Amino acid sequence: MKISRLLASRKPVFSFEFFPPKDDAAAAQLVRTLEDLKSLKPNFISVTYGAGGSTRAKTLELVARIKNEVGIESMAHLTCVGHPRAEIGSILDALAEKGIENVLALRGDPPRDQKTFLPHPEGFQFANELAAEVARRNFCFGVAGYPEKHPEAPNREVDLLYLKRKVDTGASFVITQLFFDNAHYFDFVARARAAGITVPIIPGIMPVTNYSQITRFTALCGSKLPARFKTKLETAQADLQAVTRIGITHAVTQCQELLGKGAPGIHFYTLNKSHSTRKILEQLL
Ligand code: FAD
Repeated sequence: MKISRLLASRKPVFSFEFFPPKDDAAAAQLVRTLEDLKSLKPNFISVTYGAGGSTRAKTLELVARIKNEVGIESMAHLTCVGHPRAEIGSILDALAEKGIENVLALRGDPPRDQKTFLPHPEGFQFANELAAEVARRNFCFGVAGYPEKHPEAPNREVDLLYLKRKVDTGASFVITQLFFDNAHYFDFVARARAAGITVPIIPGIMPVTNYSQITRFTALCGSKLPARFKTKLETAQADLQAVTRIGITHAVTQCQELLGKGAPGIHFYTLNKSHSTRKILEQLL
């Protein structure tokens, strides 16, 4: 089912994001985790797309298994990194053949050995170009949005102009970068609406389970940890269970306020772990 139809139902739409496991054993384990999470009835599951290498084919395999074997609607992330346009066309054909109806169109992050994003000489430079290609086919697609601004954008206004350009290719929804202070989301939605972006904007929430990991992630993606939350996590950092509990409590508070004030759903960045997401959703359902 197309995610646009799920969003039109106006119930909160809950989704989980996973990354493709590196080997077959981990893939089988992940499918078992997904079967476990089925009882929570996520509306869809998305699978990220790596910066290169063998995990990319695994994204395609996994989205197909989630939809066709596990029986949960799925969405494939797709990026411009390293692909000539013709290859993007073949990947989209392969997704359609596997019955995949939903795509998240992204520029992608540069591979680890590159500092800045370099487009393939025959490829796309920005996500709006990929989005336009996806829009030529019969997919429902979404794009990424940044409540605290994309790190490379000179300012929030310019970033929003580019978001509008992406959405105007025909995107049905925006999923946001992770954030820990809801004020950023509400401000972003208000600015997006004022700029004429009318599609649902799904907040992206990452339950914190590890202090050094989240410090690394936030430094990379430009999201900030609110001072009090940061201090709590920092103080508890040696006790992973305590950090996980603090992360769950913070995420539940965030999600309750977001849904209470009209967010169309929640997209959980699970990092392939089900414990925190399960605990959070149990308190929301
Ligand atoms: P763009 O929209 O192209 O924006 C990139 C930068 O260029 C921004 O600074 C923007 O302001 C600017 N810009 C945009 N359009 C133009 C234009 N036409 N002209 C000039 N400047 C422009 N990465 C992965 O590698 N794999 C994944 O699976 C993945 N999943 C993600 C899921 C979500 C929900 C989110 C929020 C991010 C995800 N990312 C993923 C990370 C994403 O690829 C990076 O944040 C990347 O740096 C930007 O991608 P984008 O699609 O937002 O790019």
